[in-house]
Parts: sequence; C-alpha cells; structure tokens
Amino acid sequence: MKVFNFLFALFLFISFHSFSQADTTERVVLVIHGGAGTIMKKHLSPEKEAAYTEKMTEALQAGYAVIESGGTSILAVQAAINIMEDSPLFNAGKGAVYAHDETQQMDASIMDGKTKNAGAVAGVGTIKNPINAAIAVMNLSEHVLLTGEGAVEFAAKNGVEIVDSSYFKSERRLENLKRIKAEENDHGNLEPVDEELKMDVLDKKYGTVGAVALDKENNLAAGTSTGGMTNKRYNRVGDSPIIGAGTYADNNACGVSCTGHGEYFIRNVVAYDVCALMLYKEISVKEATAEVIKKQTELGGAGGVIALDKDGNVAMPFNTAGMFRGYITESGKVVVLMFGE
Ligand code: ASP
Repeated sequence: MKVFNFLFALFLFISFHSFSQADTTERVVLVIHGGAGTIMKKHLSPEKEAAYTEKMTEALQAGYAVIESGGTSILAVQAAINIMEDSPLFNAGKGAVYAHDETQQMDASIMDGKTKNAGAVAGVGTIKNPINAAIAVMNLSEHVLLTGEGAVEFAAKNGVEIVDSSYFKSERRLENLKRIKAEENDHGNLEPVDEELKMDVLDKKYGTVGAVALDKENNLAAGTSTGGMTNKRYNRVGDSPIIGAGTYADNNACGVSCTGHGEYFIRNVVAYDVCALMLYKEISVKEATAEVIKKQTELGGAGGVIALDKDGNVAMPFNTAGMFRGYITESGKVVVLMFGE
C-alpha cells in the first residue's frame, strides 16, 4: 500500500498539469464542481456521462435563476449544491460514501465573502442537505463548526430537514466500500466489476460537490458538501467543512471550493491560500490556483479547486485525470467539463 502511495505521488508529480479553462471573456456568475479523480472517458458509459452533464447543468441553472432574480450568492450556492446533494451521482447528501463501519457521515461548509461569516457541520448522518445545516450554523448560531449529534440537534431545531439514515442507503456505495476493504487486505480485484466502480475504488471515491457564486451586488460566496472518503475511520473529518482548507470566500479576492484528498488540502490550507496569494502577490485567480495545485502536487495530494474572483474570472485546475466541473456566465451560457480536456 505504501509503495502504491509513493508511486501515485510520483505520478502526480511527473504528470502535473493544470487544466483551468479560464478562457472565457464573459463574466462568470457561478462555478461548480462534482469531485476530482480518475475521471476518464473509458470509465463512464455514454449514458452516465450524459447524466453527469445533465445534473451539473441543472445545478448551474438553479443557481443562475437565484442570481438572475436578485438573490444572494449564498442562496445561489445553496441552490446549486442542493441539486447535487439530492442526486446519487455525487459523493454528497444522497450519494454519500460509506465509512469503515458502514455508516455515512457527511460534512459541509459555507462562507460569505462580504461579511466573512462562515458555517459548517461535520460527521452528520441524518441531515438531508448538509449545506443547509452549514448555512443555518452561519446565520443562526454564534459558532462556525458543529459536529455529530449536536449539529443534527441544532439543524433540527432550526427547521433543517432531517431524514432517516436509510434515505442515504446505496448498494453501489456499499459494494465500493467492500472492494476498498478487500484491496486493503490485499485481495482486491473482486469480479465482476464495471469500469465506473473501478474508478471509484481507485479514487476511494472522491466526488464531493462545491459551488462559488457572484451575485448582482458583487458579493462572493463559496460552499462545499461531501460524504468524505470511503472507508474513513475514527470519525475522520476532511477538508470540506474546514474554513480555509476546503472552502473560503473573500470579496477582495475570490471564492474557492476544493475537492480531493482532504488531508493534503488541510495541510496546505488550500482555499485560503488561493485568496492570500491573490492579495499578497497581486496575481490573478488563474495564477493563484495554478500555484496551489502545484504545491498540492509536490505534497502528493490529488484533487482540484474551483475559484471565481470578484470580477467574474473563473479557474478550475486539478492534478487528477479529471474533475467534474462547470460554470455559467452572466448571459446564461453553460459550460460543463469532466475529463482532462
Ligand atoms: N475532500 C473530501 C474529503 O477529503 C473528499 C472529496 O473531495 O471528494 O473528505
């Protein structure tokens, strides 16, 4: 396993590339991701590829509708993330992966670039849309991060929808856990396995969702929601609910949401680093995100980031084979990508 990790880090280092697709002249108002990983055409059937494109388009249009009607960037982020949380395609909400003990433990966070207010929840198993709980923590509590039972109690008291844990049950995700455990014990390759499942096992299923929005008042907001990493133990929490690591927003710079191997994103304080680089070095969002991905690659951390600056410039670099990602411009033009185009 250690040899595998070393080879993987080496692969990342050698094959560092930064697909950013920041080349749109129009102001972008919303950017989303649906996770980074071994996302390659050969792993996805045409139907699955179409399903991802459709769902991400729906998420972008839902957020766009909020912005168009004069809603805040926070509400736009929420609308986009809710669509992806309600879909089994992504590792968030309905599609959350399983921890080692076959429970599902979700994390989410939100940050308001205008006020620097932030809210987050971690290790919650019965909140239908964890991003809604994060928003409730931001708006209705004096805290930033609530965890476990306490977070659920707070969410329930404040009208956030609670569901039975069976709502999240997924045979496919359980199969994924089983295969990762088998691989851990050195008897992998359980047959039969389809290409998409192979991809999930290889990645330990990344697939977190995130969004950054810029509203008509020029306010930025960023949010992230995840089931974490398959087979996680001991109430492990990744970067997604950690403000500064997985999510950050500052109206003076940009909004950022990350996806990938959380431990590395925590260690490099990635989301905050993007904003800090822009402010301290006076560089563009494209340059700042490329720099943090380079640092991630050097550390051996697989993943990617989405970022949107105060002028509507977007960047979406990653060091994995692919990343589900897309944006929508001020005029409503949708761009959805997933492979290393
Ligand atoms: N960053 C998430 C975590 O480590 C996983 C992901 O992005 O898919 O929990």
